[in-house]
Amino acid sequence: MDFNLTEEQTMLRDSMRDFAKERLAPLAEEADHQGFTHPDIIKELAELGYCGICTPPEYGGAGFDTLCYALAIEEVSKVDASIGVMLSVTNSPAQLPILDFGSEALKKKYIPKLASGTCIGAFSLTEANAGSDAASIKLSAELNGDHYVLSGLKQFVTNGGIADIFIVFGVTDKSAGSKGISAFIVEKSFPGVKVGKVENKMGLKASSTAEIIFENCKVPKENLIGEPGQGYKIALATLDHSRIGIAAQALGIAEGAFEQALEYSKQRVQFGKSICQFQAIQFMLSDMATEIEAARYLIYNAAWRYDQKQRMSKEVSIAKLFAAEMSFRVVHKALQIHGGYGYMKEYPIERMYRDQRATEIYEGTSEVQRMVIASNLLK
Ligand SMILES: Cc1cc2nc3c(=O)[nH]c(=O)nc-3n(C[C@H](O)[C@H](O)[C@H](O)COP(=O)(O)OP(=O)(O)OC[C@H]3O[C@@H](n4cnc5c(N)ncnc54)[C@H](O)[C@@H]3O)c2cc1C
Repeated sequence: MDFNLTEEQTMLRDSMRDFAKERLAPLAEEADHQGFTHPDIIKELAELGYCGICTPPEYGGAGFDTLCYALAIEEVSKVDASIGVMLSVTNSPAQLPILDFGSEALKKKYIPKLASGTCIGAFSLTEANAGSDAASIKLSAELNGDHYVLSGLKQFVTNGGIADIFIVFGVTDKSAGSKGISAFIVEKSFPGVKVGKVENKMGLKASSTAEIIFENCKVPKENLIGEPGQGYKIALATLDHSRIGIAAQALGIAEGAFEQALEYSKQRVQFGKSICQFQAIQFMLSDMATEIEAARYLIYNAAWRYDQKQRMSKEVSIAKLFAAEMSFRVVHKALQIHGGYGYMKEYPIERMYRDQRATEIYEGTSEVQRMVIASNLLK
């Protein structure tokens, strides 16, 4: 068993690490405060190829493996988790449905735009009454001659306010349950697409999360991804990949918080000593380091299995569940090590504490991950 990263993986990780440190870290606090990521930053990330990490080169991507995708999201999330989720979504759940299930014409038309970052992508599944129970979505998609008419509302859409291309799941056959769901590519410029409420969130404030409204939106028939009724299958297959990105985001947040806490513990003096000399603090740091290491190998294993085309839904859910809950424990301890200063906005730990929470909720809550793991155990 070889645990070393390849030359390519090391190179990608290091270049993202440098970019995150030099360009993103100085802007993260301001971006959180203002509630958006500056378009120039997204442009720079796109120019460096970070919008098409795993996208095959024939469609304009870098053609790297899933571990590279995880490494990039991990590194960026160490300093700015909002950019972590923005990149995760435009790389994975906005492209995979097209790459894995779309026609050649759809791949040629949309993937180069997404992979180059000329267009930002979003994945719109959740509705007001369909979150964990995604099969109960209601957005209607009726075939009418050479187009589908989409009517309904999607909510909590990451990149919602900045995306140009949406993967949208709608019901094409009400009587067929989850087999009546279909997936579509919808351009923001299509008549009948409107950005609704932009959410005011607890964390990830520089990431746009919005409602997307579809009012008799005409979508060309050829923008159906795969076959009618394949949508739910497409969503689940996509989540197997994109959850690796969210697990990596959680890992990155935990690592960033750990680094802050380690450094702070060396500098903060109480009772005439650096607080890192107290065993209580050392034990917290040791537990944090141990859990981070465990999550890292679960995620890298899930990414490796994905690329080996091995069965991996269980391993992906294990990695996402553990990384998300681990990052909660780690940011909690990191803030504790900062004492009262950790509660103040001057230190990035306060932002990391808020940002972390979403990793336990989106792309399947921790309870949903447990359901996936259990269903695999009981097969
Ligand atoms: C910041 C953010 C960004 C998001 N981005 C996107 C996006 O880009 N695209 C998108 O489609 N969605 C997105 N979402 C939505 C997200 O995926 C859902 O919020 C999530 O799946 C949970 O759905 P819900 O909020 O409706 O909660 P519910 O499904 O109502 O769950 C409420 C609680 O009940 C629990 N629960 C539900 N069912 C069961 C069960 N059977 N057994 C045990 N417990 C259960 C849940 O685990 C949770 O604790 C985003 C959410 C957030 C917070």
